[in-house]
Amino acid sequence: MSYQVLARKWRPRNFEQVIGQRHVIRALENALKMGRLHHAYLFTGTRGVGKTTIARILAKCFNCEQGAGPAPCGECAACRQVDAGNFIDLIEVDAASRTGVDDMRELLDNVQYASSAGRFKIYLIDEVHMLSVNSFNALLKTLEEPPEHVKFFFATTHPRKIPVTILSRCLQFNLTRLPHSLIHEHLAALLDAENICHDEGALGEIAVAAEGSVRDALSLLDQAIAYGDGELKSSEVEAMLGLAARQQVADIGRCIAARDTGKLFELVELAYRKAVDFEALLKDIIALLHQVALRQALPGAAISPQLKEQDVDELAAAIAPEDLQLCYQIALNGKRDMAFAPDDKAAFEMTMLRMMHFTPLQAGAAAPAGGAPPQRAPAPAQNKAAAQTQTPATAQIPAQEAPARQAPPQTQRTSATQTPAQQTPAPQTQRAPAAQTPAQHAPAPQAQQMPAADGAADDDNAGNNSGDNAAPQGGFQLADCGDAQGWVRLIEAAGFEGPLREICFNSLLTPQSRTEATLAVDARIEGLCTPPRKEEIRQALSRLIGAEAVLRFETAASDETPAQARKRHELERRRKAALSIEKNPQVHSLKERFNAQTIPDSTQPVEPEG
Ligand SMILES: [Zn+2]
Repeated sequence: MSYQVLARKWRPRNFEQVIGQRHVIRALENALKMGRLHHAYLFTGTRGVGKTTIARILAKCFNCEQGAGPAPCGECAACRQVDAGNFIDLIEVDAASRTGVDDMRELLDNVQYASSAGRFKIYLIDEVHMLSVNSFNALLKTLEEPPEHVKFFFATTHPRKIPVTILSRCLQFNLTRLPHSLIHEHLAALLDAENICHDEGALGEIAVAAEGSVRDALSLLDQAIAYGDGELKSSEVEAMLGLAARQQVADIGRCIAARDTGKLFELVELAYRKAVDFEALLKDIIALLHQVALRQALPGAAISPQLKEQDVDELAAAIAPEDLQLCYQIALNGKRDMAFAPDDKAAFEMTMLRMMHFTPLQAGAAAPAGGAPPQRAPAPAQNKAAAQTQTPATAQIPAQEAPARQAPPQTQRTSATQTPAQQTPAPQTQRAPAAQTPAQHAPAPQAQQMPAADGAADDDNAGNNSGDNAAPQGGFQLADCGDAQGWVRLIEAAGFEGPLREICFNSLLTPQSRTEATLAVDARIEGLCTPPRKEEIRQALSRLIGAEAVLRFETAASDETPAQARKRHELERRRKAALSIEKNPQVHSLKERFNAQTIPDSTQPVEPEG
């Protein structure tokens, strides 16, 4: 006995057997009952939802020898021939292969001749949107004045590609994707009838993978039965559908939620041995986090078919929404930075570690888990830059910035695009008031004079769980932070993240006293500076100075902020590094001998001071 594919064997023979699409079938049945037979029907919907199946049943309804109606007999010659696909008056055309106007003319030339066997001559044109413009025009003429004995059934996945002139002459029926549950039920009934062993998990997987298409579901089922040697087991269906990877993603998600580093690294090793693409894996994790977040916000939200509902729900309950947001952000950054990591596995591991050990910044307080403060994670470059500001060379920056703060706007604009020559502070220091000279920036003795504040700050920090390993802080005074170096130290100690960090790095602090200061915020970033953020900054600074800080915010149009100073400084270092490469005798001889070239902008300074 030859094996007949399930989709063909189980093709519905009447409206009752059609899975889903009740809205379409009810409308058709009602029209047929009342004898209202239109001359052109259009069935739209994605692949495998029953467009041509319904059209063929409709053909039987029109031509059944027992009389036209909603329930064809299935026994007469016409019904049987339609089922067998050899009814002479049902002309099926695949427009995808016959798009030309000649094809259409040939077809339509015969329209005028009466039907030979049935009551009606029916043209079933599948993928009708594929017809050429000329073919549509030829078709339109017939549709405008169709002979009584001719009916057109069109099916398409892309109704928008059909000319309006054609659409307006058709009764249109939109078929929908089928819900998983309906497909699942159908498959179960069918396997029972076929006497094939199956477990529910396997059917569920197939129903989901079919994405609403019965035909796809049946094709997958055929494949799975062949794969499982006549049986249907979930493990094999999962292997067939490539769902093992999905399980792996969910398992990693669970490890992140439970902060189970040991288990997570076992999974990573396993993935490594299986030669998993870590970038793709990270992408899947990002997709998972997105789905979990959606599910948290909208408990009824549909789950992407690539994920198991159960996994997503479990994670939605296990991870706090704010943790989830942070994990998502970390994962996105991790994916972006993957290209810079020594290898994908290392990058993946670091990203996972960050997800497990960082918790989101609560209002006004950094809350590091596992000892690593969150502010360190996203901004290693910034920390490095901050460290650089402590090298002797950067002593120039305060000198330069102090006067800049006092200077008229245009001077700063030039200073932002400064050439190295301007690094020499001479002309600017002339404008610097005495109170702003670097001498004032020797903070050490003052800091030591503040033991009480020191203790207070620490207590406060412990209480807020704030930046507790930013050890060198304590005993801050706003008065010490009037230069870029001091301000950057204060920013780092406060552990600002996100917008707060952005605001601070684009501001200049001008202290008025130990606890009072003006913060001049770069105009371009002023929008970020909302009252709650201002208050957060003020509170964080209060903790650091161990007293209630008084902050006045104002807009600074163009003062060189720490961020700008750092950028300029970095450009200068690169320029110097590039220059030293050019001057290097060995490089010079390489160029001479091998016609080598240095690639502009590829030079990276390796020492803090280029
Ligand atoms: Zn019949």
